[in-house]
Amino acid sequence: MTGARTTPAPALDRRHVPADLPDRIRHYIDGAFVDSVDGATFDVLEPVSNEVYVQAAAGGAADIDRAVAAATRAFDEGPWPWMLPRERSRVLHRIADIVESRDARLAELESFDSGLPITQALGQARRAAENFRFFADLIVAQSDDTFKVPGRQINYVNRKPIGVAGLITPWNTPFMLESWKLGPALATGNTVVLKPAEFTPLSASLWAGIFEEAGLPQGVFNLVHGLGEDAGDALVKHPGVPLISFTGESGTGRLIFANAAPFLKGLSMELGGKSPAIVFADADLEAAVDATIFGVFSLNGERCTAGSRILVQRDVYDAFVERYAAQARRVRVGYPHDPATEVGALVHPEHFAKVMGYVEIGKTEGRLVAGGGQPEGFAFGNFVAPTVFADVAPEARIFQEEIFGPVVAITPFDTDEEALALANDTRYGLAAYVWTNDLKRAHTFAQAIDSGMVWLNSNNVRDLRTPFGGVKASGLGHEGGYRSIDFYTHQQAVHITLGEVHNPTFGRT
Ligand code: NAD
Repeated sequence: MTGARTTPAPALDRRHVPADLPDRIRHYIDGAFVDSVDGATFDVLEPVSNEVYVQAAAGGAADIDRAVAAATRAFDEGPWPWMLPRERSRVLHRIADIVESRDARLAELESFDSGLPITQALGQARRAAENFRFFADLIVAQSDDTFKVPGRQINYVNRKPIGVAGLITPWNTPFMLESWKLGPALATGNTVVLKPAEFTPLSASLWAGIFEEAGLPQGVFNLVHGLGEDAGDALVKHPGVPLISFTGESGTGRLIFANAAPFLKGLSMELGGKSPAIVFADADLEAAVDATIFGVFSLNGERCTAGSRILVQRDVYDAFVERYAAQARRVRVGYPHDPATEVGALVHPEHFAKVMGYVEIGKTEGRLVAGGGQPEGFAFGNFVAPTVFADVAPEARIFQEEIFGPVVAITPFDTDEEALALANDTRYGLAAYVWTNDLKRAHTFAQAIDSGMVWLNSNNVRDLRTPFGGVKASGLGHEGGYRSIDFYTHQQAVHITLGEVHNPTFGRT
């Protein structure tokens, strides 16, 4: 392993460049691909070589204005918001069918653009299709509340789409996270402006063709590429956009929250994490090691719910660390397109520098037992060896701060109380994983953790009906299942008098 960065030509020759890449990535506004009003572009890099492979349109306020105007028109003039749920559902199912039928191409492009291993990118493409299918089904199965006061009143909920939803997404699993917002926003009859992450704009452009083919009316879906501080900021501050669904860093979330405040916008915030995996001595250690390896090294460690702090009970601590480190050293780092690859290349040189900075900090804060630099044979691009630090103190930066790469901190504990204190000792609260065979402890412990989601003796496997969201610095609000439907709709209460009108009469003559 080495910290040096060279770029040996033969290694780069082995990378895979997909055929038929676009010559330019453009916005998609009102049914047409367009350049920025001012013609601005930005460089898009691929993470194996860090070479610029394409230019993308760099949107600003004028482009957001055009996109919001198109989305507003499509909302006001219809027919999308007024269509029967079954009709919208059919379009959504067609979208899912098309995504499924193109999963290999989607995965190829996503893996090339983001550095995600191809097998994992394929899984994300299928999950994207499933998101559409799920909301297509939900929207026709959905019922709303009615209440009766016998003889006096009936009350019912008239659920309505809100308008133009602004969707701002990160780069870690770009296409899947876009589908996560597009699915419920469209299912409920809203129109949208999507601002995808600037590191990974390639797959987002595919939505336009997919939606056209599936029969989504013109203007319902609009896409503006660009930097967060330009295109993203303009979307957040646009008075014609009443909803912002954001996934990204907690710091960005805080800024967006403040910028949206003067407009009193509806906000959904899915933010960062530093999730604990707690392994008790009575756990199935083999399963716990497998799960905690996967939990932090899958998706290159660029995973919001990564179990990046592993707390291990002292009785099994040494055995766990030894086994964990040995297995981490065997995790296969490789070219993103290689089906044997388990960890690919991090998304961008800026992110690579951040993660490598934490690796160096870790060397002063913990005991390095695996990785610690670039892997053998991959001293180029944004490759990072799966890196494990043991004996990490809770005040260490690598215990407290989100690294968002293949880096994990392991810390021992003695008692349940100590484990709980350590688990809760961060500003984040997204996910937690508990490994124990003691039923009472499992539930008591799980319920006491400050996190939006807990997995007991399980990896991160999520039924789409369950709530998704974090507490503390990890987010505000919940999405998932009906909670997404709630976020993207108004629930207007309609009250009807039965029988006599029950008026207290003022001013009676
Ligand atoms: P980021 O906050 O840098 O960017 C996310 C998006 O916000 C991008 O599209 C970016 O262009 C945009 N943006 C940046 N500044 C903006 C501004 N001032 N106004 C409007 N938009 C702006 O996050 P990232 O680096 O792309 O993603 C990684 C982060 O996302 C990690 O913290 C990770 O934990 C988090 N994440 C959370 C979840 C979740 O569901 N909780 C899921 C995936 C990723």
